[in-house]
Amino acid sequence: MRTLRSYVAGRWHEADSDFAPLYNPSTEEEIARASSRGIDFGAALDWARERGGPALRALTFGQRAALLKEMSKAIRDRRDELLDLSALATGTTRPDGAFDIDGASGTLAYYAALGKGLGDRRLIAEGEGVQLAKTEAAWGRHVLVPRPGVAVLINAFNFPAWGFAEKAACALLAGMPVLTKPATSTAWVAERVAEIVIDAGILPEGALQIVCGSTGDLLDRLGPQDVLAFTGSMATALSLRDRHNLAAASTRLNVEADSLNAAVLGPDVDTAGPTFDLFRRDVEREITQKSGQKCTAVRRILAPRGALDAARDALAAALGAVVTGDPADPAVTMGPLATAQQLRDAEDGVAELAASSRVLAGGRGRVDGAGAPPGKGYFLAPTLLEAPDANPAGAVHRREVFGPVATLLPYDGTAAEAAAIVALGGGMLVTSAYSDDSAWLAEFLAHGGAASGRFYIGSREAAAEAPGSGVALPHLLHGGPGRAGGGAELGGLRGLELYLQRVALQGNRPLVESLAGG
Ligand code: NAP
Repeated sequence: MRTLRSYVAGRWHEADSDFAPLYNPSTEEEIARASSRGIDFGAALDWARERGGPALRALTFGQRAALLKEMSKAIRDRRDELLDLSALATGTTRPDGAFDIDGASGTLAYYAALGKGLGDRRLIAEGEGVQLAKTEAAWGRHVLVPRPGVAVLINAFNFPAWGFAEKAACALLAGMPVLTKPATSTAWVAERVAEIVIDAGILPEGALQIVCGSTGDLLDRLGPQDVLAFTGSMATALSLRDRHNLAAASTRLNVEADSLNAAVLGPDVDTAGPTFDLFRRDVEREITQKSGQKCTAVRRILAPRGALDAARDALAAALGAVVTGDPADPAVTMGPLATAQQLRDAEDGVAELAASSRVLAGGRGRVDGAGAPPGKGYFLAPTLLEAPDANPAGAVHRREVFGPVATLLPYDGTAAEAAAIVALGGGMLVTSAYSDDSAWLAEFLAHGGAASGRFYIGSREAAAEAPGSGVALPHLLHGGPGRAGGGAELGGLRGLELYLQRVALQGNRPLVESLAGG
């Protein structure tokens, strides 16, 4: 059995006790174990602050971008191996594994290109300068400079590769050394990705460390120039927000958490036309991709009463064709949930939703998976429910079931009602609307735009190239208000801001502008 290792203070560390087991989610075989026992977290932070940080900050954006490009290539070169590992250790089909692995290499490549454009600068100047008094002797301008701390990246179990890469790309390009801590249950993929990058000798020593297992006293040691970028459940986020030392030092904390994302079918959509077809395809994908274990997955589907029958029939038929099982079986189109705990949570969640909704597809709890040993594996069939009424708020607007589960909800077709129902989710990462009516879309945005971090528009013209609402592209903001965590990641150069300090330069114009140009 594989013992996962951590890379800290310039060497690989293997613990000798306190192991957490990792399982193949299709067979329930124990395949690996992880522990961070024995790690000196103070030494790890010193290593990053004293070695990695200064080495990265000595480089220009363009030079750091070149490192990201090499990281992307190193991961891409091991794509097949990583996809096999992802299937074994996280239960992904090949396309679902690619979503994570290619998402990692693609995001690194994107930030490599963006950083290259920044060239030989070491800071980012914002906007134009401003004259502060009668003459240019009093001039001001804002700049963003690297923070001399450590970027501690804590990730959720569902994206062990992309979750690491999307945060690390921004931190490293900004000039901050990274200490990453993957979720233990799927840490094998993250460990291998880090190992590939570290073994390739791409980054300066101290720029990348990984801890497999618990965080020990790491978080007690964070200070004012460090950044804690967290992705996971709101329950864990709240425990981080409650940490006195982080609050006292104003350590930056970014939270990417739960989200009850909604897909809304507009009243103008012909149920025999291409926009409806896009809606059906997107929603089916968002329910089943990665077995619904995506923070951006659609959990609530709003259809106007007149289109409810068509939406119900189309989605139930699409989900009925899904083959759930061990991704090693070529007939399988959807894998298991990642852990026994996730399966239990999802089963409980379906039961809670079913108390006020009827089950249209799935909903029978754990099922046997195709190609998997009978009685083994964390399989849940795709599950569609329908509530008779979307409002008042019920479990559907409160309970995130982190699996292939969504609920169909009727509404009256007005943008105002759709927006009000969507907002009951308390803050989302993404809301998708399917419509070709720009006036209806504008009204929806006006009423409910602020409820989500991203507004995805599915229309006839977009159908050919639509990636689906669940893809967090590096070009656009990832993060949402309220229960989604209130965080902000990606979004092009905006993604670097978490790791940079904004400084207002004030002085005489030539000096300010020469500093800002640097
Ligand atoms: P989780 O249980 O909150 O764990 C997330 C991470 O936090 C893991 O690495 C976990 O490590 C670590 N952790 C847990 N308790 C900790 C503590 N007291 N101190 C420091 N670290 C701690 O969440 P999850 O089950 O992995 O992920 C599922 C959730 O993440 C879902 O709610 C989903 O919506 C959300 N999610 C959000 C996004 C987004 O971008 N908004 C993306 C993906 C997932 P261990 O595994 O070792 O416990």
